[in-house]
Amino acid sequence: MRVPVLAYHAVNIAGNDYAGNDLVAFAADLRLIDDLGLRIVPLHWVVEQLTGAAERDLGRCVALTCDDGSAFDFHDLVHPAHGPQRSLYHCMLDFVAERGADAQPDLHLTSFVIASPEARERMDQVCLAGLGWMGEDWWRDAAESGLIAIENHSWDHNHPCLETPGVDGMPRGSFLDVDNHVRAEAEIAAATRFIEARIAPRPTRIFCYPFSHVPEYVHREYLPQFGHEHGMTAAMGDGAMPVTTGADRWNLPRYICGWHWKSTEALRGILAGS
Ligand SMILES: [Zn+2]
Repeated sequence: MRVPVLAYHAVNIAGNDYAGNDLVAFAADLRLIDDLGLRIVPLHWVVEQLTGAAERDLGRCVALTCDDGSAFDFHDLVHPAHGPQRSLYHCMLDFVAERGADAQPDLHLTSFVIASPEARERMDQVCLAGLGWMGEDWWRDAAESGLIAIENHSWDHNHPCLETPGVDGMPRGSFLDVDNHVRAEAEIAAATRFIEARIAPRPTRIFCYPFSHVPEYVHREYLPQFGHEHGMTAAMGDGAMPVTTGADRWNLPRYICGWHWKSTEALRGILAGS
């Protein structure tokens, strides 16, 4: 197994060209992946392969993810500066309409959402445009579409815009401060419970580290030893290499759009190398 996992942030909209708009990049990348003869598969297939829960042929495959769970994942919205935007979900439907359902029969996107309604509201007001882009109204529809999985991006991202301190006196702004059981339970297991209550009967099984910060305690102790509490079977970081057999399931690598690649040609190089 040698599967590159790509990551997008749908709210990254600084213009309407590839380099400045993750939605535009995502739409183009679906076509590039297809043109290269690669297969898009659900991230949970990759995790199941890694953990021995399933045995599939994952040769020449790619998995797609997106972070932070803004409404741009699912809803078409008008950006105040850059106009109408096609959601990641509709970009996938456009791709299917253009190339047929047989082109990528396992087409799938894993969306890592932030659980806390208060944190999402605060991010919407302070970091975004205050237009209600961080709601959860779409989670169930997305999960039921069969094209999107809703997964765990922590309780509140321990985001710097939140009131300080967080649980157990935790300073804000870095996920590395999630360094003990109380903090890890509040950031990961509580998020599992909240998200699963909204997408039931579907579970959430994959964690994604906020800021790609991988705290030693969470990585070495909490995730491996407290599965009965948090329910996670793997965790995603930003290692910029394909997921291979034997990869560290508690810090699986991804390539981040806008960081590890900024153009179709750069992504072509990543995919060719994998
Ligand atoms: Zn994030």
